[in-house]
Amino acid sequence: MTSQAVKLDEEDFYNSLVETFRDAEYPMLKDAIYLDHAGTTLQSKSLMEQFMADMMSNLYGNPHSGSPSSQLSTNRIEDTRSKVLQFFNADPEDFDIVFVANATAGIKLVLEGFQGRDEGFSYGYHVSAHTSLVGARELASSSRCLNNIDVEHWLSGTEPLVDDCQDLKLFAYPAQSNLNGSRLPLSWASRARSVNAYSLLDASAFVSTAQLDLGDAKTAPDFTTLSFYKIFGFPDLGALIIRKDSGAVLQERKYFGGGTVELVLCVKESWHSPKTQSLHSSLEDGTLPFHSILSLNAAIEVHGKLYTSMDKVARHTAFLSERLYRGLASLRHSNSVPVCVILSNPSQPSPSVNEQGPVVAFNLRNGYGAWISNVEFERLAAVQKFHIRTGGLCNPGGLATSLNLEAWEMKRNFSAGLRCGSETDIYAGKITGMIRASLGAMSTKADVDSFIAFIREFYVETSPVHPTPSPQSHSDVQSTIKVESLTIYPIKSCGGFEIPIGVQWEIRPEGLVWDREWCLIHQGTGQALSQKRYPRMALIRPTLDFQDGLLHIRYQGPLSPGVSDEITTPLSFNPSLFRKPGEDRTLSSQVCEDIIVAHTYSAKNINKFFSKILDVPCVLARFPAGGSGLNTRHAKAHMQNHQISRGGLNAAVLSGELPLTPPDSDNEGRKRPILLSNESPFLAISRSSLEALNQEIARTGGKQAAASVFRANIVLGSSNSNNALKPYSEDDWASIRIGAQRFQMLGSCRRCHMICVDQDTTEKDREPFVTLAKTRRFESKIFFGSHMCHIPSQVTTMEAQCPTIRVGDIVSVES
Ligand SMILES: *Cc1c(COP(=O)(O)O)cnc(C)c1O
Repeated sequence: MTSQAVKLDEEDFYNSLVETFRDAEYPMLKDAIYLDHAGTTLQSKSLMEQFMADMMSNLYGNPHSGSPSSQLSTNRIEDTRSKVLQFFNADPEDFDIVFVANATAGIKLVLEGFQGRDEGFSYGYHVSAHTSLVGARELASSSRCLNNIDVEHWLSGTEPLVDDCQDLKLFAYPAQSNLNGSRLPLSWASRARSVNAYSLLDASAFVSTAQLDLGDAKTAPDFTTLSFYKIFGFPDLGALIIRKDSGAVLQERKYFGGGTVELVLCVKESWHSPKTQSLHSSLEDGTLPFHSILSLNAAIEVHGKLYTSMDKVARHTAFLSERLYRGLASLRHSNSVPVCVILSNPSQPSPSVNEQGPVVAFNLRNGYGAWISNVEFERLAAVQKFHIRTGGLCNPGGLATSLNLEAWEMKRNFSAGLRCGSETDIYAGKITGMIRASLGAMSTKADVDSFIAFIREFYVETSPVHPTPSPQSHSDVQSTIKVESLTIYPIKSCGGFEIPIGVQWEIRPEGLVWDREWCLIHQGTGQALSQKRYPRMALIRPTLDFQDGLLHIRYQGPLSPGVSDEITTPLSFNPSLFRKPGEDRTLSSQVCEDIIVAHTYSAKNINKFFSKILDVPCVLARFPAGGSGLNTRHAKAHMQNHQISRGGLNAAVLSGELPLTPPDSDNEGRKRPILLSNESPFLAISRSSLEALNQEIARTGGKQAAASVFRANIVLGSSNSNNALKPYSEDDWASIRIGAQRFQMLGSCRRCHMICVDQDTTEKDREPFVTLAKTRRFESKIFFGSHMCHIPSQVTTMEAQCPTIRVGDIVSVES
């Protein structure tokens, strides 16, 4: 018999052992498959019974007096301390234990000690740290987020922990990442000590399926924090285990509470004397959660009875997670594209190689490689009785690293509405969370197998996945049209921002991303300002800076001396930047329909900047995140009668997502007035139509029109000199394809005299309005350019998840 076979037998034996008692011990699992052990383990029936028996047969009082009931509690708490230390193989000579509410409270207690020094302290934390460790940086005088390489450089002396380092240093890291289960070297703790830094080990995720061994005080972390509910399911309690030799620094904390002082004076004099008998007596403020502490006795005992030892749990869960990893990794769509993108290290069949906990973090893709939303997955999983965690998992650094999310992308997503637990989790084609399956002592092979079967049933595409249509396959005779330029207008009616050549720009149902995200509101009328009335708006030029996450707004016209010509505001949608509802006293009553939904900025310098330039009291406003300002940003667009009569209208009905009215039927189209028709998701103009217009203007000696006066998003031009694009041919198009994306033509754009404002000088001319009135007037309205909207792809491909266009894209007409 090979050793592999022996090992498997052993695992199978242990698995069947768990199976024998699971139904009885965990009756709540009758209708549930629990895969969230890294979050919480479940409490067993024996534990609850043993705890109840203890509580019902003994009189436990609050441990603060000499009464027998109080003394009984005190004594039992002290016994429990020893028992817990023993559980982690920690010698009470070398270690003390402080009971805290949870692992987070343990972290905060350590920080309180470090804050006691007036000089402050430096703080380094590992990139895979839980949010509760990250937050500690706000208390440090300097801090840094370190990856494995940074840690090695620091420990080997080639780099400081933090630039501008204080004498007092703290380095914090998780023994196991709660995000993907990867384990970090426990040896870092003693190496940190050798370079004069204290170590704080967050063992919360690690201890649920591994033996934390503090047997050697010389190499142990100075401070170890954990939550018991992750090991035993009960009680909801945490501990901070302190290496006694390192404990003094915590006694420098300033706060004291009931229980941690010998004597306190308040009247006439402020003086107190802290308790000194033991570390825990000086750190445990207030009444201990004594019932919870006492229940630990039962928890440890029952856990030992059911599972024998933590090492057995470690082997069992390693065996299961290797099975889970292999199962998920092997799933393939019919075109052999992998179904799961796994974000954990391969699970190791041998727990002695201690680099990965029994956690498999992953994301799902469809046959075209497009992401499956975590939110949708979690809903379906819940219906199928799987209890599993998805999302950002309280681990910001690990998430960003695993998913390759840059800081500016996260901020952009935040601006677009991404929040912890929000509905949308795919932005610009990137997924922002993950699925985490974590196994525990009571997990079984059957749990793993049914989870893999669930993914296979619902997410593996077995019918042939058709190759995605390539843009070329649709090119026809007119494919010599291309995108000449792309422009967005971040602030409605202000200057444009030209999208650089080569940049793929995301398109949304409401238009090009960042187009008309902001507007200026008249403080008196509550209405959005427009160039028609305030031509100088053309000289207000916004620029998007993704590197720093800022919107720069520069004024290019003359200013009185001493007035700044530029302001910036974050691209991220930070609620604190805005006035609260009701705060807008001047606006509230008169706000017109398009403004009610916009959030106005509260910063005086920003609003003064615009008010000064335009010489009108106004405020900057932003449409709410997530495109909910859609229907007010863009009004209705229609096929015009001149197009209908020429037979241009055979347009299909639009996607239901857009709050635009579908193109009118012939009759309706004649009757309905055009509202605010200079807006729709996309406005395109044709270079050859513009040239034709300018030729007309030239004949009368008028001022030629620049493309910019039409404030289009897309300028379509010919890609060669044969001028494939006929003037005004766009009037007859039904739909077009730009690159890989399809657009529905929504009708011609009605024009007003705003097109007479020169966008560089703000000078007004008669042209091109006058010539357009002569050549492009239909039923007493004049038209130039085309409204369009995006037609979402029917299949969710990678491109469909983040539809983009760019300058140079080939355009083909579908008629
Ligand atoms: C669960 C967990 C925490 C937080 O524990 P609380 O009990 O919520 O304080 C911190 N770090 C890691 C690694 C965890 O797994």
